[in-house]
Amino acid sequence: MATDTGPEGRLCLLTVHAHPDDEASKGAPTVARYHAEGVRTVLVCCTGGEEGEILNPALDQPWMAEKLAEVRAAELARAAQVIGYEEVVMLGYRDSGMAGSPANEHPECFAKADFEEAVSRLVEVIRRQRPQVMITYPEDQGMYQHPDHLRVYDISVPAFERAADPHYRPDLGEPWAVSKLYYTLWSRKRLEERHKAFGELGLESPYQESWFEQPSRDDEITTRVPVHDFIDARIDGLLAHATQIDPESSFWFGLPPEIERSIYPYDDYVLARGTRPAELPESDLFEGVRPEAPEASESSGSSEVPELSTAQAQYGRA
Ligand SMILES: [Zn+2]
Repeated sequence: MATDTGPEGRLCLLTVHAHPDDEASKGAPTVARYHAEGVRTVLVCCTGGEEGEILNPALDQPWMAEKLAEVRAAELARAAQVIGYEEVVMLGYRDSGMAGSPANEHPECFAKADFEEAVSRLVEVIRRQRPQVMITYPEDQGMYQHPDHLRVYDISVPAFERAADPHYRPDLGEPWAVSKLYYTLWSRKRLEERHKAFGELGLESPYQESWFEQPSRDDEITTRVPVHDFIDARIDGLLAHATQIDPESSFWFGLPPEIERSIYPYDDYVLARGTRPAELPESDLFEGVRPEAPEASESSGSSEVPELSTAQAQYGRA
Protein backbone atom coordinates (compact mmCIF):
# COMPACT_ATOMS: atom_id res chain seq x y z
CA MET A 1 0.00 0.00 0.00
CA ALA A 2 1.36 3.41 -0.94
CA THR A 3 1.99 5.75 1.88
CA ASP A 4 0.47 9.18 1.67
CA THR A 5 2.67 11.80 3.14
CA GLY A 6 1.50 15.09 4.52
CA PRO A 7 1.27 18.44 2.83
CA GLU A 8 5.05 18.87 2.76
CA GLY A 9 5.81 15.37 1.52
CA ARG A 10 7.37 14.39 4.85
CA LEU A 11 6.38 11.80 7.39
CA CYS A 12 4.55 13.23 10.38
CA LEU A 13 4.36 12.15 14.02
CA LEU A 14 1.55 13.59 16.12
CA THR A 15 1.40 13.20 19.89
CA VAL A 16 -1.53 14.02 22.16
CA HIS A 17 -0.82 15.14 25.72
CA ALA A 18 -2.90 16.48 28.59
CA HIS A 19 -0.80 19.29 30.08
CA PRO A 20 2.33 21.26 29.37
CA ASP A 21 5.17 19.04 30.77
CA ASP A 22 3.58 15.71 29.77
CA GLU A 23 5.31 16.01 26.41
CA ALA A 24 8.63 16.15 28.30
CA SER A 25 7.99 13.30 30.73
CA LYS A 26 6.53 10.92 28.14
CA GLY A 27 8.34 10.09 24.93
CA ALA A 28 10.46 13.23 24.50
CA PRO A 29 13.53 11.25 23.34
CA THR A 30 11.40 9.54 20.69
CA VAL A 31 10.27 12.88 19.32
CA ALA A 32 13.84 14.22 19.36
CA ARG A 33 14.97 11.17 17.44
CA TYR A 34 12.35 11.42 14.70
CA HIS A 35 12.82 15.15 14.45
CA ALA A 36 16.53 14.58 13.87
CA GLU A 37 15.58 12.15 11.08
CA GLY A 38 13.50 14.83 9.36
CA VAL A 39 10.04 13.65 10.45
CA ARG A 40 7.59 16.49 11.06
CA THR A 41 6.68 16.49 14.75
CA VAL A 42 3.44 17.93 16.10
CA LEU A 43 2.30 18.19 19.71
CA VAL A 44 -1.37 18.50 20.62
CA CYS A 45 -1.65 19.82 24.16
CA CYS A 46 -5.23 19.58 25.41
CA THR A 47 -5.10 22.00 28.34
CA GLY A 48 -3.12 25.02 29.47
CA GLY A 49 -2.06 23.43 32.75
CA GLU A 50 -3.69 26.17 34.82
CA GLU A 51 -4.03 23.91 37.86
CA GLY A 52 -0.44 22.75 38.00
CA GLU A 53 1.18 22.71 41.40
CA ILE A 54 4.34 24.72 41.68
CA LEU A 55 6.85 22.05 42.55
CA ASN A 56 9.97 24.14 42.28
CA PRO A 57 10.41 25.77 45.72
CA ALA A 58 12.49 28.58 44.20
CA LEU A 59 9.55 29.65 42.03
CA ASP A 60 6.76 29.17 44.57
CA GLN A 61 5.99 32.87 44.91
CA PRO A 62 2.65 34.44 45.84
CA TRP A 63 2.25 36.15 42.44
CA MET A 64 2.92 32.95 40.53
CA ALA A 65 -0.58 31.48 40.87
CA GLU A 66 -2.14 34.36 38.94
CA LYS A 67 0.42 34.25 36.16
CA LEU A 68 0.64 30.49 35.95
CA ALA A 69 -1.18 30.06 32.64
CA GLU A 70 1.09 32.59 30.99
CA VAL A 71 4.24 31.16 32.54
CA ARG A 72 3.33 27.62 31.55
CA ALA A 73 2.71 28.66 27.95
CA ALA A 74 6.22 30.08 27.82
CA GLU A 75 7.65 26.96 29.46
CA LEU A 76 5.88 24.77 26.92
CA ALA A 77 7.23 26.79 24.02
CA ARG A 78 10.75 26.36 25.37
CA ALA A 79 10.31 22.64 26.04
CA ALA A 80 8.87 22.05 22.56
CA GLN A 81 11.89 23.72 21.07
CA VAL A 82 14.48 21.75 23.03
CA ILE A 83 12.67 18.45 22.43
CA GLY A 84 12.26 19.06 18.72
CA TYR A 85 8.55 19.65 18.19
CA GLU A 86 8.00 21.71 15.08
CA GLU A 87 4.47 22.70 15.93
CA VAL A 88 2.38 22.93 19.08
CA VAL A 89 -1.40 22.91 18.78
CA MET A 90 -3.37 23.88 21.88
CA LEU A 91 -6.73 22.13 21.94
CA GLY A 92 -8.03 24.99 24.05
CA TYR A 93 -9.34 23.44 27.25
CA ARG A 94 -8.75 24.36 30.85
CA ASP A 95 -6.83 22.05 33.19
CA SER A 96 -9.34 20.00 35.25
CA GLY A 97 -7.04 19.65 38.27
CA MET A 98 -6.50 16.47 40.24
CA ALA A 99 -9.48 14.15 40.76
CA GLY A 100 -11.77 15.51 43.46
CA SER A 101 -10.42 19.08 43.35
CA PRO A 102 -12.81 22.06 42.87
CA ALA A 103 -11.26 22.72 39.44
CA ASN A 104 -13.10 19.57 38.22
CA GLU A 105 -16.27 21.69 38.17
CA HIS A 106 -14.94 24.59 36.13
CA PRO A 107 -17.19 24.92 33.05
CA GLU A 108 -14.23 25.28 30.68
CA CYS A 109 -12.24 22.34 32.00
CA PHE A 110 -11.33 19.46 29.74
CA ALA A 111 -13.03 16.81 31.87
CA LYS A 112 -16.35 18.69 31.69
CA ALA A 113 -16.04 19.63 28.03
CA ASP A 114 -18.64 18.36 25.61
CA PHE A 115 -17.27 15.03 24.44
CA GLU A 116 -18.33 15.34 20.79
CA GLU A 117 -16.92 18.83 20.60
CA ALA A 118 -13.57 17.70 22.04
CA VAL A 119 -13.36 14.79 19.57
CA SER A 120 -14.17 17.09 16.67
CA ARG A 121 -11.39 19.49 17.65
CA LEU A 122 -8.88 16.66 17.53
CA VAL A 123 -10.29 15.36 14.22
CA GLU A 124 -9.75 18.80 12.72
CA VAL A 125 -6.11 18.78 13.86
CA ILE A 126 -5.51 15.25 12.49
CA ARG A 127 -7.02 16.12 9.10
CA ARG A 128 -4.93 19.29 8.89
CA GLN A 129 -1.65 17.73 10.06
CA ARG A 130 -2.06 14.36 8.31
CA PRO A 131 0.21 12.25 10.53
CA GLN A 132 1.06 8.63 9.71
CA VAL A 133 1.68 7.91 13.38
CA MET A 134 -0.22 9.17 16.39
CA ILE A 135 0.73 8.64 20.05
CA THR A 136 -1.67 8.95 22.96
CA TYR A 137 -2.26 7.55 26.46
CA PRO A 138 -3.59 4.05 27.18
CA GLU A 139 -6.99 3.29 28.64
CA ASP A 140 -5.43 1.83 31.78
CA GLN A 141 -3.28 4.55 33.31
CA GLY A 142 -2.36 2.66 36.45
CA MET A 143 -1.66 4.73 39.54
CA TYR A 144 -2.03 8.10 37.82
CA GLN A 145 -5.74 8.75 37.30
CA HIS A 146 -5.74 12.43 36.41
CA PRO A 147 -9.08 13.33 34.79
CA ASP A 148 -7.36 15.12 31.89
CA HIS A 149 -5.12 12.14 31.18
CA LEU A 150 -8.10 9.82 31.09
CA ARG A 151 -9.85 12.25 28.75
CA VAL A 152 -6.88 12.24 26.38
CA TYR A 153 -7.45 8.53 25.87
CA ASP A 154 -11.23 8.96 25.65
CA ILE A 155 -11.10 11.41 22.75
CA SER A 156 -8.06 10.02 20.92
CA VAL A 157 -9.49 6.70 19.81
CA PRO A 158 -12.74 8.09 18.33
CA ALA A 159 -10.80 10.99 16.75
CA PHE A 160 -8.40 8.50 15.16
CA GLU A 161 -11.39 6.63 13.68
CA ARG A 162 -13.52 9.57 12.66
CA ALA A 163 -10.68 11.50 11.00
CA ALA A 164 -10.68 8.76 8.35
CA ASP A 165 -14.46 8.63 7.97
CA PRO A 166 -15.61 10.68 4.96
CA HIS A 167 -19.11 10.89 6.42
CA TYR A 168 -17.96 12.48 9.64
CA ARG A 169 -17.97 16.29 9.62
CA PRO A 170 -16.68 17.01 6.09
CA ASP A 171 -16.44 20.65 7.20
CA LEU A 172 -13.41 19.69 9.33
CA GLY A 173 -11.22 18.90 6.32
CA GLU A 174 -10.39 16.07 3.95
CA PRO A 175 -10.57 12.64 5.58
CA TRP A 176 -7.21 11.35 6.75
CA ALA A 177 -6.41 7.82 7.86
CA VAL A 178 -3.61 7.71 10.40
CA SER A 179 -1.74 4.45 9.79
CA LYS A 180 -0.74 3.62 13.35
CA LEU A 181 -1.97 4.57 16.80
CA TYR A 182 0.30 3.96 19.80
CA TYR A 183 -0.10 4.18 23.55
CA THR A 184 2.76 5.34 25.76
CA LEU A 185 3.90 2.94 28.45
CA TRP A 186 6.58 3.15 31.13
CA SER A 187 7.99 -0.30 31.29
CA ARG A 188 8.66 -2.20 34.49
CA LYS A 189 12.06 -3.07 33.09
CA ARG A 190 13.02 0.59 32.95
CA LEU A 191 11.77 1.16 36.46
CA GLU A 192 13.78 -1.81 37.74
CA GLU A 193 16.92 -0.70 35.94
CA ARG A 194 16.67 2.79 37.38
CA HIS A 195 15.93 1.48 40.87
CA LYS A 196 18.94 -0.81 40.65
CA ALA A 197 21.20 2.01 39.39
CA PHE A 198 20.27 4.20 42.36
CA GLY A 199 21.21 1.35 44.68
CA GLU A 200 24.52 0.69 42.94
CA LEU A 201 25.48 4.35 43.25
CA GLY A 202 24.57 4.32 46.94
CA LEU A 203 21.73 6.76 46.34
CA GLU A 204 18.25 6.57 47.79
CA SER A 205 15.85 5.29 45.14
CA PRO A 206 12.74 7.42 44.52
CA TYR A 207 10.74 4.25 43.85
CA GLN A 208 8.75 3.04 46.80
CA GLU A 209 7.33 -0.43 47.31
CA SER A 210 4.01 0.62 45.77
CA TRP A 211 5.68 1.06 42.39
CA PHE A 212 6.56 -2.61 42.34
CA GLU A 213 3.19 -3.76 43.57
CA GLN A 214 1.58 -2.62 40.32
CA PRO A 215 1.34 -5.48 37.83
CA SER A 216 3.96 -5.32 35.09
CA ARG A 217 2.56 -4.56 31.66
CA ASP A 218 5.74 -5.20 29.76
CA ASP A 219 4.12 -8.07 27.88
CA GLU A 220 1.93 -5.47 26.12
CA ILE A 221 4.92 -3.67 24.64
CA THR A 222 5.00 -3.98 20.85
CA THR A 223 7.53 -1.31 20.07
CA ARG A 224 10.81 -0.36 21.67
CA VAL A 225 12.37 2.72 20.13
CA PRO A 226 16.13 3.09 20.70
CA VAL A 227 16.75 6.62 21.97
CA HIS A 228 20.23 6.42 23.47
CA ASP A 229 21.43 9.62 21.79
CA PHE A 230 18.30 11.53 22.71
CA ILE A 231 17.81 10.93 26.44
CA ASP A 232 18.82 14.52 27.15
CA ALA A 233 15.67 15.70 25.36
CA ARG A 234 13.71 14.43 28.35
CA ILE A 235 16.05 16.01 30.88
CA ASP A 236 16.20 19.39 29.14
CA GLY A 237 12.49 19.31 28.27
CA LEU A 238 11.61 18.72 31.92
CA LEU A 239 13.94 21.48 33.08
CA ALA A 240 12.20 23.88 30.70
CA HIS A 241 9.05 23.40 32.82
CA ALA A 242 10.70 25.29 35.63
CA THR A 243 7.59 25.81 37.79
CA GLN A 244 6.42 22.20 37.52
CA ILE A 245 9.59 20.25 38.02
CA ASP A 246 11.90 20.60 40.97
CA PRO A 247 15.41 20.65 39.48
CA GLU A 248 16.51 18.79 42.63
CA SER A 249 14.00 15.97 42.02
CA SER A 250 15.75 12.65 42.42
CA PHE A 251 12.95 10.95 40.51
CA TRP A 252 13.74 12.92 37.34
CA PHE A 253 17.35 13.94 37.75
CA GLY A 254 18.80 11.70 40.45
CA LEU A 255 20.95 9.60 38.13
CA PRO A 256 23.94 11.07 36.33
CA PRO A 257 23.05 11.67 32.66
CA GLU A 258 25.61 9.15 31.39
CA ILE A 259 24.01 6.44 33.55
CA GLU A 260 20.54 7.52 32.43
CA ARG A 261 21.62 7.18 28.80
CA SER A 262 23.04 3.72 29.22
CA ILE A 263 20.80 1.76 31.61
CA TYR A 264 17.61 1.68 29.57
CA PRO A 265 17.97 3.67 26.35
CA TYR A 266 14.47 2.95 24.97
CA ASP A 267 10.99 4.43 24.87
CA ASP A 268 8.27 1.80 24.96
CA TYR A 269 4.92 1.78 23.17
CA VAL A 270 1.89 -0.38 22.60
CA LEU A 271 0.59 -0.52 19.04
CA ALA A 272 -3.16 -0.06 19.48
CA ARG A 273 -4.28 0.28 15.86
CA GLY A 274 -2.47 -0.54 12.66
CA THR A 275 -0.84 -3.57 11.17
CA ARG A 276 1.14 -5.56 13.69
CA PRO A 277 4.60 -6.34 12.40
CA ALA A 278 5.53 -9.99 11.98
CA GLU A 279 8.24 -9.73 14.57
CA LEU A 280 7.82 -8.07 17.93
CA PRO A 281 8.99 -5.83 19.34
CA GLU A 282 9.47 -3.51 16.39
CA SER A 283 11.97 -0.70 16.85
CA ASP A 284 10.48 1.96 14.60
CA LEU A 285 7.08 3.65 14.99
CA PHE A 286 7.00 4.16 11.22
CA GLU A 287 7.72 0.49 10.45
CA GLY A 288 5.60 -0.47 7.46
CA VAL A 289 4.47 3.06 6.66
CA ARG A 290 7.64 4.58 5.28
CA PRO A 291 7.66 5.31 1.58
CA GLU A 292 10.11 3.26 -0.50
CA ALA A 293 13.49 3.62 1.18
CA PRO A 294 16.05 5.27 -1.10
CA GLU A 295 18.77 2.78 -2.11
CA ALA A 296 21.71 4.80 -0.87
CA SER A 297 22.32 8.35 0.18
CA GLU A 298 23.51 9.00 -3.41
CA SER A 299 20.16 10.30 -4.60
CA SER A 300 20.40 13.58 -2.83
CA GLY A 301 17.79 16.23 -3.30
CA SER A 302 14.98 13.68 -3.31
CA SER A 303 13.60 14.88 -0.05
CA GLU A 304 13.81 18.16 1.72
CA VAL A 305 15.42 17.80 5.09
CA PRO A 306 14.70 20.75 7.33
CA GLU A 307 17.46 22.85 8.77
CA LEU A 308 19.11 21.61 11.91
CA SER A 309 17.24 22.87 14.90
CA THR A 310 18.66 23.41 18.35
CA ALA A 311 17.42 20.03 19.49
CA GLN A 312 18.88 18.26 16.52
CA ALA A 313 22.22 19.96 16.95
CA GLN A 314 22.24 18.98 20.60
CA TYR A 315 20.94 15.45 20.41
CA GLY A 316 21.57 14.31 16.88
CA ARG A 317 24.17 11.71 16.20
CA ALA A 318 27.51 13.25 15.38
ZN1 LIG B 1 -0.44 15.84 32.94
